[in-house]
Amino acid sequence: MSINITRSDKRRKTVSARMVGGVLEIQAPAHMSDADLEPIIAKLQGRIDKRQQRRELDDGDLAKIAHDLNQRYFQGKLKWQSLQWSTQQDKRYGSCTPADQTIRISHRLAKLPRFVLEYVVMHELAHLLEANHGRNFWKLVGRYPLTERARGYLMALDLEAVTVEH
Ligand SMILES: [Zn+2]
Repeated sequence: MSINITRSDKRRKTVSARMVGGVLEIQAPAHMSDADLEPIIAKLQGRIDKRQQRRELDDGDLAKIAHDLNQRYFQGKLKWQSLQWSTQQDKRYGSCTPADQTIRISHRLAKLPRFVLEYVVMHELAHLLEANHGRNFWKLVGRYPLTERARGYLMALDLEAVTVEH
């Protein structure tokens, strides 16, 4: 997390922090030194980290993405039993078990751009209809317009061999 500190004469006592485009913006009184600020920033940072992690690993958020993709690309016809973040998937980005209609998405995706996460959810949703990686499968996944870009992104992470397996 990068940090940007702004000191102001107008501020007397309080330090405030907010996230702006991935940068932690700190507003501090002019008289406070870096050493004074350090423990305060560490505390604020910890709080923001936790808040972000909670948000990133919110299953409700995942459900919303899947719901939107289902509406947009599958006419809302797909049904699944469960869709959850998983911290157990270190080698894969997602998994789908068509037999019991459960989908797991690796927590590592929470840190990647949204379109990459959407692609992986799309990929796993398509497995509800096509268990293999055949032509029909890729046709379904290809309805998501950023599929190629997302695959390229994952490839660039040099994890292609272990990316999205069903
Ligand atoms: Zn797959």
